[in-house]
Amino acid sequence: MKRNALQAVIACKCPKCRQGNMFQYNSFLPGKFDKVEETCSNCGLRYESEPGFFTGAMYVSYALVVAVLITIFTALNILDLYSPILAISLVVVSIVLLVPVFFRYSRVLFLHVFGNVQYDSALNK
Ligand SMILES: [Zn+2]
Repeated sequence: MKRNALQAVIACKCPKCRQGNMFQYNSFLPGKFDKVEETCSNCGLRYESEPGFFTGAMYVSYALVVAVLITIFTALNILDLYSPILAISLVVVSIVLLVPVFFRYSRVLFLHVFGNVQYDSALNK
């Protein structure tokens, strides 16, 4: 299946071939969501190109958390339900529940955007 870049990001696929999985398990369950493959099973791309490469993904994660925070505060204001206790409670619960999502998509987005990996359409079958 040929994927475009957005589909590859959503499916957590390799940025070079858009076929290989970046994570060992296709699960957001605790103990499984954070297992990153070392190399792509399809094209052999090494995901962590240098030690500490994924440290930069924490900035992407921070941006994702801020986006959720803004969404919650905006939704509460639009629905006229805003109260500080409710807002803080929703933000804390959302962030805790979404840790696997933030973890995965911050790494996927960081590798796709800042990984300096050239897409090879010959590998995307
Ligand atoms: Zn690949």
